[in-house]
Amino acid sequence: MKNNIIVLVGLQWGDEGKGRMVDYLAQDADIVTRYQGGNNAGHTVVNEFGTFKLHLIPSGIFNPDVINILGPGMVIDIEALNEELAELDKSGIDIRNIRISDRATITFPYHRLEDNLEEDRLGKGAFGSTRRGIAYAYGERYMKKSIQLGELLYPEQLKERLTAIVGWKNLLLKEVYKSKELIDINEVLEWVKVHGDKIKHLICDTTKLLESAASGNKKILFEAQLGSLRDIYFGIYPYTTSSCTLASYAPAGGGLFNKKIDKVIGVMKSFSTCVGSGPFVTEMNEAEAHDLRETAYEFGASTGRPRRIGYFDAVATRYGAMVQGTDEIAITKVDSLSGQKTLKICTDYNIDGKLTKEFPLTPALEKAKPVYIEMEGWQEDISKCRKFFELPDAAQKYINKIEELIGYKIKYISVGPERESLILK
Ligand code: GDP
Ligand code: MG
Repeated sequence: MKNNIIVLVGLQWGDEGKGRMVDYLAQDADIVTRYQGGNNAGHTVVNEFGTFKLHLIPSGIFNPDVINILGPGMVIDIEALNEELAELDKSGIDIRNIRISDRATITFPYHRLEDNLEEDRLGKGAFGSTRRGIAYAYGERYMKKSIQLGELLYPEQLKERLTAIVGWKNLLLKEVYKSKELIDINEVLEWVKVHGDKIKHLICDTTKLLESAASGNKKILFEAQLGSLRDIYFGIYPYTTSSCTLASYAPAGGGLFNKKIDKVIGVMKSFSTCVGSGPFVTEMNEAEAHDLRETAYEFGASTGRPRRIGYFDAVATRYGAMVQGTDEIAITKVDSLSGQKTLKICTDYNIDGKLTKEFPLTPALEKAKPVYIEMEGWQEDISKCRKFFELPDAAQKYINKIEELIGYKIKYISVGPERESLILK
């Protein structure tokens, strides 16, 4: 089978270790394309160049021959993008091979402002948004009140459209939120100029680039942000993100149409973590969560927020793998479980006294209680293992059990954050 077009996705709530896997797989790619999300992403990459947190830039950036595309399905805060570019440049990373789709959506400072106003208004009922304006940027794309990156190249028309948008927005701020802070169109235009001028040369029709690469049999890797359970349609709505995180969306959000996906690689963590609000069935109590959070260093890569920690949830992950159309799985952070006496795996949900393996809609999910099996833990440090048989018996059994419960093949076992800390099963 040809493996030219690969999509790398998350099977759970995000932060599964996608950045780490993309960095590894990109060694064998010609193009890496992010196809959804914005700078709410936090993809951590640890390699020979250091430790990096990527937010907008694809995790293929550390391979100097790889072209890294910010695809049309993304929402891009051009100020944040310039900061990220400057930081990488300062670290000596070659940032020349970046291209930005002219069809991607700009996230403006007023989107951040709205995100903050609404989360504050919701108070206790807030979504736990990263407050980066992502939902507002996507929402307005659908309301046809947003600006595409390529419009930066047409300043006259841009000014006209922005003026109309800002007029509408000020009405909302003044009348709905009673905000004292209104948007000054001149400030917006100035922001666009300052941050747009620095990246203008990177904007192009990225579909042309992808189509021609694909017809030349080049290797294209699509990189997702977040995971299945945060997908806008198939996730735990409304505690989702505002875009489609699924592999089947990669061709549209990335902009490649005349070649089929050859392989979907799903990344899952060997336990559960999530950031933000929403039902989280296998959540540990804080005493248990605390230790694993510290050993596994589970703090948001984008926000620094402590992540919620849970046992491995086979019901949620099996569903997560199903909606991705997963071909192969990478399981990460198995090393972080060393030292646990026992390990629990959730095999079923108990909803109103009935057991089920089906992942339900959010209102039912909120009532679900986990049913666990318990497995033996292991004490050994496994971060130096590079073969499956080198793993302690208990670790092999844990991985095999998970594979059996979710029903998808595990191909990669990650035992450390570094590029090469990987076992091929
Ligand atoms: P992403 O958003 O899916 O790219 O994942 P994040 O980067 O937000 O979170 C994953 C975290 O786990 C990062 O800090 C990675 O460096 C780290 N990580 C990934 N794989 C492993 C692993 O196998 N072992 C350990 N110890 N850390 C890992
Ligand atoms: Mg992350």
